Amino acid sequence: MTSNPSIPDRVDVVIFGGGVAGLWTRWRLERAGYSTLLLEQSSLGNGQTIASQGILHRGTKYAFGKDVAQASVELQLAQEVWTRALKGTDGPDLRGVSVLSPTTVMWTSESFLSRFTGAVAAGVLKSDVRKLEGEHRPAAFKAAPKAVGVWEIDEKVVDSSTLLHELTRSARGPMARLSAGARPRWVKPNILSWSDATGQTHATHASAAVLCAGVGNESLITSLADDHSGSGADAAARHVAQRRPLHMVMMRGAPCDLFGHCIRELSDKPRLTVTSAPDAGSFVWYLGGALAEDGVSRDGPSQIQAAKLALRECMPWIDLSRATWATLRVDRAEGRTPSGKRPDTPIVSPIAAGGHTLAVWPTKLALAPAAAGRVFDLLETANIRPTGVVDAGESSLAPAPLPWNEGGVRWS
Ligand SMILES: Cc1cc2nc3c(=O)[nH]c(=O)nc-3n(C[C@H](O)[C@H](O)[C@H](O)COP(=O)(O)OP(=O)(O)OC[C@H]3O[C@@H](n4cnc5c(N)ncnc54)[C@H](O)[C@@H]3O)c2cc1C
Repeated sequence: MTSNPSIPDRVDVVIFGGGVAGLWTRWRLERAGYSTLLLEQSSLGNGQTIASQGILHRGTKYAFGKDVAQASVELQLAQEVWTRALKGTDGPDLRGVSVLSPTTVMWTSESFLSRFTGAVAAGVLKSDVRKLEGEHRPAAFKAAPKAVGVWEIDEKVVDSSTLLHELTRSARGPMARLSAGARPRWVKPNILSWSDATGQTHATHASAAVLCAGVGNESLITSLADDHSGSGADAAARHVAQRRPLHMVMMRGAPCDLFGHCIRELSDKPRLTVTSAPDAGSFVWYLGGALAEDGVSRDGPSQIQAAKLALRECMPWIDLSRATWATLRVDRAEGRTPSGKRPDTPIVSPIAAGGHTLAVWPTKLALAPAAAGRVFDLLETANIRPTGVVDAGESSLAPAPLPWNEGGVRWS
């Protein structure tokens, strides 16, 4: 039972998972006066947040798709929240977050330029974009033919490591490590049993549990959900959660940074989305978009070949001769949609009676504030009232390493 003084016996809300969703929810609930305890199984943001490309999307790249309205509206609203937080004027104080780029670009090849330009002119692209010419183009386009079209979008790119760090600092509630493979359980309606990393068992009085564990939500739902259907709590997880896998590519030795989307057709999926970070005197390029979605069935070497081909198509003027390569498989964990496609909004699902246990999937980094707002609304609706914040001081939990700094990555 609980004897560690840094872990309270009683809190209003236990949050599982310290990625962007769990940390923003922790901040949001503390602001409303709830006491929280955040339980993390490994390191903060391990899974999606640390592996994300860090783009605070405005919905622009979705604006070519058919069912884009809701996604774009939610993302536009989220922009203001992020802008205030990054300036430190409202929300969690994120002034210490490293903004890797204030804008992204969309670019398109010579062969596709006229159709793309026509679409922009016809207003098919429902967002503000500015065409960049000459010296205003990013360094990655200095050697590009003039006929390559480059447009700038007001879409910030943030470093996920400093984001996790600053979000952690923005709230004061206690945080603790769960034991690996822990199966927390409600042993009574308001008593949650769980084991910490040392194996010690705790019985925490809590009014609610909020699951923000990404792919880990599936096992947490299995151990914490009510079994309404009679078909087993595993089935409950299958009904509310989905995964969409990605096979990302990392390229070391890039001569300059780049943040943007290569557009080859009028779809909601860019051929390539590139973000980058300084890396030992040069840059690492992190490649996603259709390359990562369509490359799930490829093995690592084939995926690297596919990345080289995509770069040759999208920017044939870039010299890749000094690059070294690696790939990363990572699942996007989301609330389930009937089609299995990306949800348009964050999803927050009550998975046990009376709003007692909520499962959260923000869908996008950019939508974490909206997800946290929904958690707050649902707790209020369930009549779960705040009893006052617990201040545990600085947390000792650290963010997971960025994917290209992971010790086990094999570069070729
Ligand atoms: C490759 C990639 C690129 C992306 N790029 C973007 C982008 O550019 N812009 C954007 O807006 N979105 C992007 N996304 C989506 C975005 O990253 C996710 O929507 C968001 O990070 C999800 O955050 P989360 O906190 O729900 O989950 P996670 O970040 O996965 O965090 C889950 C946390 O829970 C912990 N955990 C796991 N199991 C347990 C357990 N049983 N108990 C306790 N803790 C547990 C994990 O260690 C982790 O800390 C991207 C996603 C991927 C995969």
